[in-house]
Amino acid sequence: MQPLVHFKNVNKYYGKSLAVNNLDLKIERGKFVTLLGPSGCGKSTSLRMLGGFEDPSSGAILLDGKDVTHLPPHRRNVNIVFQDYALFPHLTVGRNIAFGLELKGMPSEKIHARVMDLLALVELQDYADRMPDQLSGGQRQRVALMRALAPDPDVLLLDEPLSALDAKLRHQMQIELKSIQEKTGKTFLFVTHDQEEALTMSDLIVVMNNGRVEQMGDPHTLYARPVNRFVATFIGESNFLDAELRSVEGNIATLDWCGHIIHATLTGPAAKVGSHVTVALRPEAIYAVSREPDRRIALPGRITNRLFKGNFTALTVGLNEGQSLVAQLDPVALAHLEGDDVWIGWREEDAVVLAD
Ligand code: ADP
Repeated sequence: MQPLVHFKNVNKYYGKSLAVNNLDLKIERGKFVTLLGPSGCGKSTSLRMLGGFEDPSSGAILLDGKDVTHLPPHRRNVNIVFQDYALFPHLTVGRNIAFGLELKGMPSEKIHARVMDLLALVELQDYADRMPDQLSGGQRQRVALMRALAPDPDVLLLDEPLSALDAKLRHQMQIELKSIQEKTGKTFLFVTHDQEEALTMSDLIVVMNNGRVEQMGDPHTLYARPVNRFVATFIGESNFLDAELRSVEGNIATLDWCGHIIHATLTGPAAKVGSHVTVALRPEAIYAVSREPDRRIALPGRITNRLFKGNFTALTVGLNEGQSLVAQLDPVALAHLEGDDVWIGWREEDAVVLAD
């Protein structure tokens, strides 16, 4: 199937510095897609190139099969919501949303019906005649979204639209944005540096770093199967063990870590037997028990730190070989104290051998 958006080997230079490095990304219609990465990694530039506000240095951008690479913003059917989501302060809520439709020359009774439909979608039917300064922050945000959706763009571009909100409102708006996207069936391209935001809302996350795509996939895959250290640390937390690959059976690797045999899952092509690789292990994948367990993976250590975190307890376990790992355990079941000797392990499917 033809993707709605196709960034084809897009590069963007500012002077000599490469802000976007060979971006090749296909976006299917109706999906919530997030560009995720640290500040300066090229997220906004990518979004702005699709919007027509930046010209790619090379490569092509296709929208619905049509080459829009060098078309001005008003000649492509996309719309953008900025972080400050500025509404026109002197226009009512209804007129704010109607604005883009009036520009398009839509007949006024049609505009009225469309505005009321959009307001109903965010439960603001009774607010059409209010002025923006009579709305709460969350309401203003919803109106700004509806204004951007009103002209029925093929893609809605959202550049960190939630970052100015306080934590509670931001969480509410995450749920609401996702629900609006699902109800309208529109394609959203969202930019954020906040991994939790990306995990909560996206169908597809594109993790970027230094202008490059590090990995793309659905939230669960990115979390459970990061391909490299960058992704494993940027999304959630990870422990890393440097080990030697001994053998591979199916997608399970047997490795030697400091003389102990451990196991982990391979996500990509196997490295050569005998080579050194990194195993990534989520804190919540680790179990800790007091006696040597009868399991495939068991490493002895001692608890050097124990922090109660409410919904979990974080243990730092100093392994006998000198390395420390962080484990997150259920606080109810947890009897271990600082200074206790423990054995730790994990299920082999919960640890991954990184590709780098
Ligand atoms: P992000 O959105 O991930 O924070 P940007 O896409 O804004 O990153 O920026 C990527 C890189 O390009 C950064 O190094 C940034 O400093 C640079 N950059 C962005 N816009 C411009 C510009 N107009 N002129 C020069 N450099 C820019």
